[in-house]
Amino acid sequence: MTTTLLPGHPFLRYENKALHLEGVRLLDLARRYGTPLYVYSRAAMLEALAAYQRGFAGRKARICYAMKANSSLAVLQLFAQAGCGFDIVSGGELARVLAAGGDPATVVFSGVGKTRAEMREALRAGIGCFNVESEAELEVLSGVAESMGMRAPVSIRVNPNVDAKTHPYISTGLKGNKFGIAHERVLATYQRAAKLPGLHVKGIDCHIGSQITEEAPYLDAMERILDLVDAVEAQGIRLEHIDFGGGLGINYDGETPPAADALWTKLLARLDARGQGERQFMIEPGRSLVGNAGVCLTQVLYLKPGEQKNFCIVDAAMNDLPRPMMYEAYHGIVPLDDSASAPPRVYDVVGPICESGDWLGRERELAVRPDEYLAVLSAGAYCSAMGSTYNTRARPAEVLVDGHTAHLIREREAISDIFRTERLVPAGP
Ligand SMILES: *Cc1c(COP(=O)(O)O)cnc(C)c1O
Repeated sequence: MTTTLLPGHPFLRYENKALHLEGVRLLDLARRYGTPLYVYSRAAMLEALAAYQRGFAGRKARICYAMKANSSLAVLQLFAQAGCGFDIVSGGELARVLAAGGDPATVVFSGVGKTRAEMREALRAGIGCFNVESEAELEVLSGVAESMGMRAPVSIRVNPNVDAKTHPYISTGLKGNKFGIAHERVLATYQRAAKLPGLHVKGIDCHIGSQITEEAPYLDAMERILDLVDAVEAQGIRLEHIDFGGGLGINYDGETPPAADALWTKLLARLDARGQGERQFMIEPGRSLVGNAGVCLTQVLYLKPGEQKNFCIVDAAMNDLPRPMMYEAYHGIVPLDDSASAPPRVYDVVGPICESGDWLGRERELAVRPDEYLAVLSAGAYCSAMGSTYNTRARPAEVLVDGHTAHLIREREAISDIFRTERLVPAGP
């Protein structure tokens, strides 16, 4: 047997030219469940989590999985069983945590636009902390909690004004962003929070962006947060925890982000040096726990050679894989069967949707024929979760691979499900 590894994707490899995720041949899954199909590796998710757990060994720390990256119930179940809490951004996500058997006490609730109804649901469920993002939200939350005879546990999300050096749409810690409370308002906001009768001040948090591939933005943000912690506590307001958010990047196209354990070993040394090493820490990683644990399988429908470009038209589209359209993002694309029976050619890989923005990869050399299958790599984060039914395309099925076993964790949506809640108007006279 010949084995070929895919650099940066330790749980994917070719065995005798057939792509495997863990011990499962992906061609078999594509044939059994159809395409497009998301496939996730349990071991890859647990290994990504283990890197953080190693970094935090011996510390009072909670890893809250930022579930908007991939909120499939079986994925949440896996992380809950592995000891994670959850970072949620809506009442819908809270419902998913509860449905997956997660402990609400481990949940932190982020987001700039929490509604009163969402606040009530979260208080009723007994979540661990609200990460409050504005002074107006603070007042509303206090009122909602008071009306329920409760005190809401709160942390204030601080905008540390550091440049995460990532795509503008996923940079969140700069002054011009809608997220968090501006540095100069933080002290006043804590003083107000400490006086509001419906609140219990618990901590401080930040989240500076996503797909961060350098350690410097984290170090900068940490210094600024620690300065604020000192200033807030000097006012007699005790902070039990510091939550440093998520954002660590992954390898899509040869990026080399720091490993989670190395990054956190370094950051924690800095915290120790400032006498803060004994605090309760939280982090909110999303992409780095799931991104490279998943692939999206797709079948080639047509090859369309042209004067300027060759198109490889596949059955997955921007509704399944929105990142290229949204951020011009790169995903690796490789064949499931690497025996290269067709001559190699350079293609734009595109989906069937009626939009020129519907592309998955540009100028990729592929040796494929119609009906053959491809895998779109790094599809575990912000793909299925961001998917839509645009063009009335049903959402794909999802499979979780564990060693040699494949579990169907989401059935392919039926077309009738897509318009189940729609109504025709009564017939006219
Ligand atoms: C999206 C988000 C995260 C996770 O970001 P990743 O880049 O996926 O790690 C964490 N915290 C908050 C508040 C977020 O909005």
